[in-house]
Amino acid sequence: MKDRLAEIESEALAAIDKAPDIDALERIRVRILGRKGSLTQILKGLGKLPPDQRPEVGRTANQIKKAVEKRLKARKKELKSGGYAGLLKGFDPTLPGRSRPLGHLHPITQAMGLICAVFERMGFDIARGPEIELDFYNFEALNIPPDHPARDMQDTFYVDEKVLLRTHTSPIQIRTMEKTSPPLRIIAPGKVYRCDSDITHTPMFHQVEGLMVDHDVSFAHLKGILTAFVHQVFDPQTAVRFRPSFFPFTEPSAEVDIQCVICRGKGCRVCSHTGWIEVLGAGLVHPEVFRHVGYDPEEFSGFAFGLGVERIAMLKYGIDDIRLFYDNDIGFLHQF
Ligand SMILES: [Zn+2]
Repeated sequence: MKDRLAEIESEALAAIDKAPDIDALERIRVRILGRKGSLTQILKGLGKLPPDQRPEVGRTANQIKKAVEKRLKARKKELKSGGYAGLLKGFDPTLPGRSRPLGHLHPITQAMGLICAVFERMGFDIARGPEIELDFYNFEALNIPPDHPARDMQDTFYVDEKVLLRTHTSPIQIRTMEKTSPPLRIIAPGKVYRCDSDITHTPMFHQVEGLMVDHDVSFAHLKGILTAFVHQVFDPQTAVRFRPSFFPFTEPSAEVDIQCVICRGKGCRVCSHTGWIEVLGAGLVHPEVFRHVGYDPEEFSGFAFGLGVERIAMLKYGIDDIRLFYDNDIGFLHQF
């Protein structure tokens, strides 16, 4: 009798799972649980069994009845909702998938990466420093005392009298030299802040600072490195010129122009019809800066330079308004 019950159960459950529709399910129900169903017959015939077998057979038969009813109910629900066939209706598995739109790096981040990669190939290490900076590192140690007119060149956001948002990445030079002895070659990329906003200025922008210190570092090294940099970022044919300039932390100082990448030197609106565009400030490290960090200016010499990442990105990608970088216009950003 036990074998018979196990047989009824496995056949019933298998049939239910395979039932193609609700009608078929109903026929299975009648066959097993109907008035003349196989399981019903067994339950009805319990009385004819020897008394010692009745409790166990009765219990097993009832368990099977419950299991079959449960499976019937579940399969019915499945068939009503359409089953797998319903889920797949109208679905063509041969169609290509719908791809999610992938973001990409911001053009400024891309330009920053490109600039850093060029200098890293030339053996420069990356150095970083805080954006909230002490007046000492931002100005004083860079040979800009409190009454120095150069402070007017940079409109500074002050946190309090001694603390400010760095106006350039140059304080990283000081912080690095304080911790390290020459020789050293670093570039310091990062955000800087100035109280300024128009078509070519934003209150926050990006600079990359460079510093090389060793015995006998000369202006020729500076020219060589910066020319190689320009040729790798722009066209290798791009002309470069150095103009005398003034920065408190370098002596002598120079501004570096490149041949206008838009008009190739013929003169256009971007270069104010001069054929040249300024991209960098540079010079040999001022002895006073070395004294602030405990380097002997008689023993060591070095050069430093700073460039605006937005400026490079504008020239490289042909963008004429710096504010476009920070409008978060997806249509604009997608082009890069
Ligand atoms: Zn031009």
